[in-house]
Amino acid sequence: MISGGPTRLPPRARAAVAVARLVGGAARRAGRHGSVIGGRVATMLDRRVLARLAAGRTVVLVTGTNGKTTTTSMIARVLGGAGRRVATNHLGANMPDGITTALLDALSNHEGAPVAVMEVDESYLDVVAAATDPAVVVLLNFSRDQLDRVGEVRTVARRVGEVVAAHPRARVVAFADDVLCAGAGLRAADPVWVSSPSLWTGDAGVCPRCDGAVTHAGVRWACSSCGLARPDGDWTLVEQDTAGTVHGPGGSATALDLQLPGHANRLNAAFALAVGIELGVDPAVAAARLRDLEQVGGRYRTVTRPGGTTRLLLAKNPAGWAQVLDLLDEGPPRPVVVAVNSREADGRDVSWLWDVPFERLARHPLVAAGDRAGDLSVRLAYAGIGHRLADDPVAATRDTLGAVDLVGNYTAFHDATRALT
Ligand SMILES: [Zn+2]
Repeated sequence: MISGGPTRLPPRARAAVAVARLVGGAARRAGRHGSVIGGRVATMLDRRVLARLAAGRTVVLVTGTNGKTTTTSMIARVLGGAGRRVATNHLGANMPDGITTALLDALSNHEGAPVAVMEVDESYLDVVAAATDPAVVVLLNFSRDQLDRVGEVRTVARRVGEVVAAHPRARVVAFADDVLCAGAGLRAADPVWVSSPSLWTGDAGVCPRCDGAVTHAGVRWACSSCGLARPDGDWTLVEQDTAGTVHGPGGSATALDLQLPGHANRLNAAFALAVGIELGVDPAVAAARLRDLEQVGGRYRTVTRPGGTTRLLLAKNPAGWAQVLDLLDEGPPRPVVVAVNSREADGRDVSWLWDVPFERLARHPLVAAGDRAGDLSVRLAYAGIGHRLADDPVAATRDTLGAVDLVGNYTAFHDATRALT
C-alpha cells in the first residue's frame, strides 16, 4: 500500500537542493535538456542527498536489460491518477545522478509526490537500492546485446540477486521465463512472478544456482543438475493475435487492449499491472490507465503528415530490434524507413547490424537511410532484402503514401521526432 510522503529535508540537504536547482535550471535554460547536472551537484554537496530525497516515499525500482523506460512509464501511470503525484525519471537517465535529478524535479514540481518510480541501470541497482529502501523491485530480463557477452550478463544478474537478498523488505516482481532473471528473483523470500508462455523463446543457458546445464521445453526451463526450475507465474500474459489478457491469482483475468503495439509492451504492461495491484490499485483501474498510454518518450507515437501517417519507433541494438520486428509483424506489412546513425550517443560501431535478423522484413517495402545508410544497405543486401537508399529518413517518409513506420537508432530517432512533431 502507498502511504506517507517525502520527509522534511535536513538543513544541509536543503542547501544542497537549493544550489542544485539553480545549476540545473541554468543548464536547462542553456538548452541542455535531460541534463543530470542538478543531481551531480546536489550529491557533491551532500553525499546522502538521494537517500534524503527518497525518504518517506514509496519507491519502485525497475531494472533489467530491455523495457525499463516503457515499464517505468507504465508503472508511473498505474500508480498515478486520482490526484496522486508520482516522481519518475521519464527521460531515461537511470544512473544515480539521473535519479537524484528526477527527485529534485519532483520537489520543484510537486513537493508532495508520495511515490517514486525509477528505472535503474542494472549496474547501479545496489547503490540506488541502498539509498532509497525500495518497496518494490522489478526485474524485467537479463539478456545479451552485442557488447554484453554471456559471462558479463551473468555477473550482472548475480549482483542483482545479491541486492535482492540484501533488501528483504522489498517486494520483488520478476520474470519467471528468463533463467537469469528468475535466479535473481529467487533470492527474495516471496517473489511475485510474471510469465508469458505464449511467445517466449528462451535460449538454453547455465543454471544461476549451480552452473549446471539448463534445458528448455517451451517456456519451461529446468536445471538438469540441481533441479532449479522455472517458477509458476503469479501473473501470466496470454496472447491471442495482438490482444493480451493477464491472468492472475484466484482466476482473475484482465484484458489489456493497449494502444502501445507489440508483445514486448504487453509484457511490460503485465509487470505494471502486477506492481499496481501489489500496491493496492484496482486491476480494472490499472488496466484503464495503461490503455490511455499512447507513447513513451515519443516512441510509438503516430504523427499525421500530408498523404499519410508516420509511426516513430526506436531500436538501438539487436534486442530492441527483436521487439520492433515483433510489432512490425502485427497487421498488414507497411513500408518501413530504417535510419541508422553512428554519432557519439549511438556508439560509433555499427557491427550490431549483422546481429539483427533483417530477413524478417522481407514483406515490407524498405528504405535504408541515416548517416550509415551504406552499411545498412550492405547488410540488407546480404539478407536478400530489396530496398532503396535515401539521404534523409524524414523526407523518405514524406515520399510514401499511407501509413509508414520509421525505425531509428538513438540520434536518428530523436532527429526524426524533432522534425516531425
Ligand atoms: Zn542448477
